[in-house]
Amino acid sequence: MRSAEIIAVGTELLLGQIVNSNAAFLSKELAECGIYVYYHTVVGDNPERLQKIIEIAESRSDILIFTGGLGPTEDDITKQILAKYLSKEIVYDDTHLQKIEAYFAARNDIMSENNKRQAEIIEGSTVLMNDFGFAAGMVFQQKAHTYVLLPGPPSEMQPMFVQYAKPVLLRQNDAENLILESKVLRFFGIGESKLADDLKDLIATQTNPTIATYAGENEVTIRMTASATSREEALRLIAETEEEIIKRDGAYIYGTGEVTLVDLVIQQLMDANMTISAAESLTAGLFQAELASTTGVSKIFKGGVVTYSNEMKQTLLNVSSETIENEGVVSQACAIEMAENVRNICQTDIGISFTGVAGPESLEGHPVGTVWIGLSIVGKPTLAYRYVFQRDRNYNRRRAVKEGFALIKAFLDEKTNKISE
Ligand code: ATP
Ligand code: MG
Repeated sequence: MRSAEIIAVGTELLLGQIVNSNAAFLSKELAECGIYVYYHTVVGDNPERLQKIIEIAESRSDILIFTGGLGPTEDDITKQILAKYLSKEIVYDDTHLQKIEAYFAARNDIMSENNKRQAEIIEGSTVLMNDFGFAAGMVFQQKAHTYVLLPGPPSEMQPMFVQYAKPVLLRQNDAENLILESKVLRFFGIGESKLADDLKDLIATQTNPTIATYAGENEVTIRMTASATSREEALRLIAETEEEIIKRDGAYIYGTGEVTLVDLVIQQLMDANMTISAAESLTAGLFQAELASTTGVSKIFKGGVVTYSNEMKQTLLNVSSETIENEGVVSQACAIEMAENVRNICQTDIGISFTGVAGPESLEGHPVGTVWIGLSIVGKPTLAYRYVFQRDRNYNRRRAVKEGFALIKAFLDEKTNKISE
């Protein structure tokens, strides 16, 4: 597989005025193209140092991807320096030139020579259209190296890469008869750093497939991308790595591909033909909103209540005053009563409840982030689970909802396993 180096050009990057988010974006994209990124380089708008970097990058990478320095001003030097280095002429790309001319004509404005610079390309390159700006991007191929030039502003660079540059890079894979396959594993209940640590050796020695971890809120995904001359071989390579990952952290995997935890739980509830209702205090409807975000959920979701105050817990859910007085609302007893009562009131197979301290103030002496989730399932004793999340208010609320879905999934997984045994 080919390797790439991302070269971000811009003195503002070196001064810390902007963050090199282009490199992060491109790295993720390139992993999906089955291209290794071995180096991120940042260099200022300085001709000598830029040229030096090109030499170094050529010695260690197949693909050199530049971002920045394609603008109209004198300090935008990327393509000029690269053209000089490659002994190539700079020529105008007619499409971009006309686009810039039309823009100025429409405004009765005078186009300066500087503006025309953005329509310049290195002769012999494949032009990349810029749908959100004037600067032309380009891909230039010489001997073993591919040079990709992209504008600096992410709003121009990202669509240009995805729309125009990525297909060129993927076609180069085709030319090598390489087929790419990828698979996403989705984890819940394990942090990205723990996962990366468990897979440290795999990640360090990753060649084919590449392993990329992405951390979402409360969730981590791993994308494995393999390249091979046949689909079977690519899938076999992925399966090998997947097996190794499952051996170590399989317990945290809840699904693969684009499916979310919520999608999965809803599907499982439908398959099991089980209905659900919810009683929410600190989450105040988030769980039910999450459920309802999927179409077709009416088959399994009947409804529920938001009982934010102690009074509403009693009035709407019949939580006993003894429980509230003796145990408090952030308690196992309260979570159990809420789950059981909502299940009875709504006449569902499952009742789930959320009660706790979202923060920032503590409640009843419990630390911020203390949450009890009650789960009442027909024919089973009602249980409640305690969590302490210790983050900000809304994180704690969203996390509680996720944990609620995870609890239901654990129950449904167990049920399916029992049936299939
Ligand atoms: P312009 O036509 O705007 O001059 P350019 O292609 O010449 O575009 P630069 O002048 O290097 O690009 O950068 C323009 C702006 O793009 C920067 O001020 C910054 O906001 C953004 N930018 C540049 N490089 C990066 C980067 N590596 N990561 C994130 N943003 C960047
Ligand atoms: Mg510029």
